[in-house]
Amino acid sequence: MNENPNDHWRDWVSDIHSGFGDDGIAFLHTMDAVVRWGMARKIIPHSTPQAQCLKAVSEMGELADATLKGDLLEMRDAVGDVTVCLIMLCELADLDFKECLDAAFDEIKDRKGTLTKEGVFVKCEETDHD
Ligand SMILES: [Mg+2]
Repeated sequence: MNENPNDHWRDWVSDIHSGFGDDGIAFLHTMDAVVRWGMARKIIPHSTPQAQCLKAVSEMGELADATLKGDLLEMRDAVGDVTVCLIMLCELADLDFKECLDAAFDEIKDRKGTLTKEGVFVKCEETDHD
């Protein structure tokens, strides 16, 4: 677990500020507030990555339900709840949430395939790897 959850956020500030401006800073402040909330409630360190994973899956169920119903307010709530659980999981597992997202994006960013209107993803074989 990170001794000070602000350490890794601080490192991102200059990068994000130059790339995303005030929205990036606001995002980091929100993530920092989520971590502090988790620490104040002792979720960090008393919960476990496994418990937060199960909670995230439960919240995903709520997101699926809201999505199927087309309920945008509930979808917004559920996306937030899933994200909070994932942030808690990362803190408990000593993972950096942004690094996880960056790694996922780094893996897909050069893919050239596209999704058809029928929902089929067509890979560009020369550049896409799985
Ligand atoms: Mg919920």
